[in-house]
Amino acid sequence: MTQAYNFSAGPAMLPREVLHKIQSELLEYQNSKASVMEISHRGVDFMEAAEKSEQDFRELLSIPENYKVLFLQGGASAQFSMVPINLLRGGFKASYANTGHWSVKAIAEAKRYCEVNVCTDSTENNFTNIDDFQNWDIDEDASYLHYTPNETIAGLEFDYVPEVSMPIAADMSSTILSRPIDVSKFGVIYAGAQKNIGPSGLTIVIVREDLIGEVVKHQPKLFDYSTQAHNDSMFNTPATFPWYAAGRVFEWVKDKGGLNAMQTINKAKAESLYRAIDSSDFYSNPVSSRYRSWMNVPFLIADEKLNITFLERSKEAGLLALKGHRSVGGMRASIYNAMPQEGVDALINFMNDFEKDFG
Ligand SMILES: *Cc1c(COP(=O)(O)O)cnc(C)c1O
Repeated sequence: MTQAYNFSAGPAMLPREVLHKIQSELLEYQNSKASVMEISHRGVDFMEAAEKSEQDFRELLSIPENYKVLFLQGGASAQFSMVPINLLRGGFKASYANTGHWSVKAIAEAKRYCEVNVCTDSTENNFTNIDDFQNWDIDEDASYLHYTPNETIAGLEFDYVPEVSMPIAADMSSTILSRPIDVSKFGVIYAGAQKNIGPSGLTIVIVREDLIGEVVKHQPKLFDYSTQAHNDSMFNTPATFPWYAAGRVFEWVKDKGGLNAMQTINKAKAESLYRAIDSSDFYSNPVSSRYRSWMNVPFLIADEKLNITFLERSKEAGLLALKGHRSVGGMRASIYNAMPQEGVDALINFMNDFEKDFG
């Protein structure tokens, strides 16, 4: 079998080296004489793995001391509720940027807890552009501002962090670890693991300590960040296997040179793919060039009747999961950290050949 490259948006490709490492220790985890899936989360072997995982994650992102890192379940979708539950802190209003599908979901959930001020809205341009920040209408009474730094479906990504007076909550599910960020600019950062961290089932939350402890009344105790923080994310049984596997991914990222190295590689990958799309009349990407995502690259074929053939042939060529989201159509290549430049090059070569045959 030739090497396949998996362009799935999530659960997504994991680094080969990490899968081999996990395979090699799957039946017997270190000295435990059991699989990592079979041991107690409170035993010394798992506790060590969990702590090392957090330590490496903190190091990669240079997370300041006054932030807690939580290893939770429920996906980014559970955070759509946990953010208002924890960040309203007696307030009754929150500001949300609406820049895509995941913003829409976050807003719908927040509306169950408070009044939502949509401070900018990209609906009219079909989530292909972001209005200049000076035009945003942020309500100063809002307890926090929520935004989605990378919209996974339309492939729309911020190239800056908004400057506001209230804490920022950011859904970084599909962009975390793709480049360095300044964590101190955020109140809460959250990410489902299955894009750029590890297997699904784990959600990582980074939260500034002073923001936790005051929650909306009558909410599940499990949804209170302080419950999770005071119990080291072990108030109940955590997702042990993905937590361990994420730790192996963090080691891999560190080995590769950390987030500066990831940034260089990811920028080059994205630029090469957008260049290929832009240099042809056969393929197109509708996103405003400033806000094009490094991680998710949707593209359309001029004649959409060719979509099925493109997907069949690309799959035969070992280029997997290129079908675009149904709301956008066409194709989408998700090129997270685990996707090497060679995978992107293989896709570009395939696209060129396909254009020669059908263009
Ligand atoms: C995938 C994704 C989600 C949904 O994550 P779940 O873990 O399925 O809840 C939310 N936000 C963004 C930006 C995503 O990419």
